[in-house]
Amino acid sequence: MSADRGRELGDLAAAMVDLDHPTKRETAVWARRHLAQRDLVAADARSEFALDDWRRCAERGLLGLFVPQRLGGAGDDVAAALLTLEGLGQGCADNGLTYALASQLLSTQIALVRFGTDEQQREWLPGLLAGTSFAAFAMTEPDSGSDAFAMASRAERRPDGSYRLNGHKSYITFAPICDMSIVFASTRPEAGSWGISAFVVDSSSPGVTRSEVRPKMGMRTTPFGDLDFDDVIVPPTALLGREGAGASIFAAVLDVERSYVFAPQVGAMERQLAEAIDYARTRQQGGRPIGGYQAVAHRIAAMKERHERARLFLYRAAMAHVVGSDVPMAAALAKIVAGDVGIESALDATRVQGARGYLSEFEIERGVRDAVGGLVYSGTPDVMRNLVARHLGVG
Ligand SMILES: Cc1cc2nc3c(=O)[nH]c(=O)nc-3n(C[C@H](O)[C@H](O)[C@H](O)COP(=O)(O)OP(=O)(O)OC[C@H]3O[C@@H](n4cnc5c(N)ncnc54)[C@H](O)[C@@H]3O)c2cc1C
Repeated sequence: MSADRGRELGDLAAAMVDLDHPTKRETAVWARRHLAQRDLVAADARSEFALDDWRRCAERGLLGLFVPQRLGGAGDDVAAALLTLEGLGQGCADNGLTYALASQLLSTQIALVRFGTDEQQREWLPGLLAGTSFAAFAMTEPDSGSDAFAMASRAERRPDGSYRLNGHKSYITFAPICDMSIVFASTRPEAGSWGISAFVVDSSSPGVTRSEVRPKMGMRTTPFGDLDFDDVIVPPTALLGREGAGASIFAAVLDVERSYVFAPQVGAMERQLAEAIDYARTRQQGGRPIGGYQAVAHRIAAMKERHERARLFLYRAAMAHVVGSDVPMAAALAKIVAGDVGIESALDATRVQGARGYLSEFEIERGVRDAVGGLVYSGTPDVMRNLVARHLGVG
């Protein structure tokens, strides 16, 4: 093993065991002080994205966490990036904002960094890192979700080398405000997944329509909607990677997204846990703090156990990326675990606080709604289990 790789693994192990790591703590303190200062109950009700907070994150360099320094980002320090995302989720109560941030960093930006041409990177990365432009990663369609490669979108190559793009993408993070989208479409339908290509499409191109914000159950402050492509002419320079490489680009990006997208939620779980402990110590029933009842104490112990479990799988996945083996398996497991424990712990946080946990004004019930999306985005747990089973030689 190379010295660099050994050091990266060492950094990840140190990050994993240190719950009070300075990088995480400092980010949490900063986020608590500078983000989510608005009325979040109202923002949630109005599905309102926090543009000012986004810009603050940009100024602190958070939008470049996974972008190498040569491209204007913070570098390739995965341990620092994960600790920062955890701290962000811990300190910022706007889970929609932190999910949106992780989603953009781990989908469109990763795709541009790994597969983009110099020209594509030069055109889009500076605005994305500065927080002045937004990007969407557009794969899902009304009739192709889990079966992602069965898409209906088509990009037909024209004699001059450009493509005519037609399709409808649905349930897309950032769709309503994206300046650019990475769009997957079939350039050779008869070749199945080998015929899928990815394009970097400027939203100002004639024929591109962005939907209004579509209301959803949770993470309402994440802009979310659909994209329509109606006879959009995209130049050959818009191709991301080679023609026909779309499926492998998608798989590579999703391995990264599944591995790390829950990092802010892991931080949010730590916040929920601290609030539950506080409440259990102070809320009196039957003449004693409710934390004195074993039922409540065990509930809090279970929240702690789930938080640690999610962290272990998160850092385990990061180690798989560093070593370069077992990545799809580790990413799928991280996704399954984080999705499940996120909901269970948000529900327990609600249980601990009784009716207070159920009322919107105390901002605890929102955590449950925010966590449910984790059962769907980046692939459902059913589909993740299919993937794990396939890697084990069954299913
Ligand atoms: C908050 C959020 C953000 C999102 N952001 C994006 C984005 O930015 N870009 C993007 O492209 N997409 C995005 N999506 C869409 C998401 O990727 C899809 O919703 C997801 O892949 C599931 O597809 P589907 O909704 O069509 O469900 P379906 O695939 O129709 O699944 C419905 C049910 O059937 C089960 N099922 C389906 N196939 C199988 C199978 N083979 N084996 C076992 N069970 C199966 C599923 O587990 C699920 O329970 C987002 C979704 C959400 C909720």
